[in-house]
Amino acid sequence: MKTIGLLGGMSWESTVSYYRIINETIKKRLGGLHSAKIVLYSVDFDEIEKLQHQGNWDATAKILTEAGKNIERGGADFLLICTNTMHKVAPQMEQELTIPILHIADATAEILKKSNKKTVGLLGTAFTMEQDFYKGRLEEQYGLKVIIPEKEDRQLVHQVIYNELCLGVLKEDSKKSYLSIVKKLQNQGAEAIILGCTEIALLIGEEKTEVPLLDTARIHAEKAVEYALKEL
Ligand code: GLU
Repeated sequence: MKTIGLLGGMSWESTVSYYRIINETIKKRLGGLHSAKIVLYSVDFDEIEKLQHQGNWDATAKILTEAGKNIERGGADFLLICTNTMHKVAPQMEQELTIPILHIADATAEILKKSNKKTVGLLGTAFTMEQDFYKGRLEEQYGLKVIIPEKEDRQLVHQVIYNELCLGVLKEDSKKSYLSIVKKLQNQGAEAIILGCTEIALLIGEEKTEVPLLDTARIHAEKAVEYALKEL
């Protein structure tokens, strides 16, 4: 079994999900007392969030690269960045690290391809919904058509992520708003919705919707197990 490197804390609410899903999946696959080999480095999200909103991505890349090197030194065979948004700096990190990064958008796109979905809705932070590092990757590398919510809805989704979900706050009103945005994306032709922020499933992951909701934290965590157990 390979050792999984987790770069977490963005926010820790979803890092908990990763840790749980990875271990549950290993247990399901191997049985008994088996558990995952993990090296976890958890950053202080306050520092990262401030730099994100200042647009100082180079500074975030430096912090995450240092953390990634610590994970590498800790013996991890590969790395998961446990957030969609911070994949923005994955290319910079890849230049400095020797272990591979399993990209969250690739893992998600593979699932969509397998289920033959071509048009998808995307919910996430404004950075993830609006910038090319994520949406562009899905479109250019996987030929998916990605629909994002209208401006006001994007602002709401973004605010709820930072002011509620990353603080562990789950509000009924926010759940209703998210579900109505899911419905709008469905009406625009989305065949599935990417929950492209690792905390969103905490709010609406259990909801019954007409279109499938893809929890990127789960998809990424399960992909890590598959990779960790794959023969070299
Ligand atoms: N965990 C979130 C994501 O998947 C948002 C927090 C962050 O900005 O990293 O994008």
